[in-house]
Amino acid sequence: MATEFITVSEDTLRELEDEESGICVLCGEIAANVEPDAAGYECCNCGEMTVYGSEELVIRGLVSFGEDDD
Ligand SMILES: [Zn+2]
Repeated sequence: MATEFITVSEDTLRELEDEESGICVLCGEIAANVEPDAAGYECCNCGEMTVYGSEELVIRGLVSFGEDDD
C-alpha cells in the first residue's frame, strides 16, 4: 500500500471535496458517497480496498497534483 499514489488535478480534488466523493488510488475510479476522512474503502471497479476520501488522500500523501490520469 505504501507505494500507491495517484496524480490528480487540483480541480479534481476540489470536486471530490465538494461532492463527498473518494478516489481509488489503484485504478483512479471515483467513488460517490465517500466521506473526506474515509480510508480503505472497497473500490467498485477493481475490488481492492484502496478508496480514500479527499482529506485522507492529502494527509497520507497518496495524491500528487498534476494533470488527470484519464
Ligand atoms: Zn480501484
